[in-house]
Amino acid sequence: MKQIRVYEFGGPEVMKLEEVTEPVASSGQVVVRVHAAGVNPVDTYIRAGIHNYRDRGKFPFTPGMDAGGVVESVGEGVNRVKPGDRVYVAGSLTGTYAEKTLCNQFQVHPLPDSVSYAQGAAVFIPYATAYRALFQRARAVAGETVLIHGASGGVGIAAVQIARAAGMRVIGTVGTEKGKELVETEGAHFVVNHKDPDYLKRAAAYTNRNGFDVILEMLANVNLGKDLEVLVAGGRVVVIGNRGTVEINPREAMSRDASILGMSLLNTPANELLSIHAAIVAGLESGVMRPIVGKELHLTEAAEAHRLVLEPGAYGKIVLLP
Ligand code: NAP
Repeated sequence: MKQIRVYEFGGPEVMKLEEVTEPVASSGQVVVRVHAAGVNPVDTYIRAGIHNYRDRGKFPFTPGMDAGGVVESVGEGVNRVKPGDRVYVAGSLTGTYAEKTLCNQFQVHPLPDSVSYAQGAAVFIPYATAYRALFQRARAVAGETVLIHGASGGVGIAAVQIARAAGMRVIGTVGTEKGKELVETEGAHFVVNHKDPDYLKRAAAYTNRNGFDVILEMLANVNLGKDLEVLVAGGRVVVIGNRGTVEINPREAMSRDASILGMSLLNTPANELLSIHAAIVAGLESGVMRPIVGKELHLTEAAEAHRLVLEPGAYGKIVLLP
């Protein structure tokens, strides 16, 4: 079978497409035939060997944690799925940028017939992150006002859909007109462009209390200082994405009893992850969660996908088709 392999940290070009032997499911494991693999920014950090993820690179390795596909075979003791089941993959033992991937049985979850394989590849990291940020970190509730900074990306769109369905007032930021249309369609009450100089003021002015209960932050190194100024009393910022350092005035947090909450999906305790997947399966079934696939590329174009996922002008997810 074909599989992308990385033998050294570096740019997108270090990803090589190779012919390898097929994985075999041992006890408690599942082999999934990958119909589509999701491309996430974290895949590029792992490939590049960026700090925090460095320990995860045991060479050669295959990138990718997300996929949509069909169970091909199961090992002894697997009772959650059977061959032929449609599944979304949430983490993998051998990486998902491949024709087949080996998972433990708790890394595969049912994919409703109404959700395509490409959409299935756009589920785990985006939806689990958005859900965890909103409910397990910020403890957001119906009636609260949420600013989603970076609403046109994978995590942002998921957050817009989930927050809207949960009864929150949703304001999103985007960088393009195309992104704005998408975020409006997916449920935001109001959308602003984060390239406009006064966008945060305009967004805050749109709310009842001139500020937000919750901010989901996809680029904290740019926005965190300003975020604190537009929180209401008791407000919470969840730092989801960050690519550098930032200066903040702690007084802005102090005067509002505000909280800055970090999160990494990879830190999620097992019991909370189970709860996240229960919510995701229900959300996919009901149609509250509708993954948006913006671009489909072939597995041979993995390097191009890694370049594109870090470029401005996000529009849903990029997926790779083996
Ligand atoms: P993505 O699909 O590439 O989307 C990135 C989003 O950020 C786009 O909406 C983009 O908008 C927006 N953006 C660009 N400049 C911005 C600015 N100045 N202010 C606010 N937003 C801006 O990425 P993703 O998959 O949604 O992930 C978003 C971030 O969260 C990434 O940094 C990722 O590594 C991180 N992440 C972290 C976790 C975790 O566990 N902590 C999990 C998943 C993702 P335009 O392109 O339209 O400008």
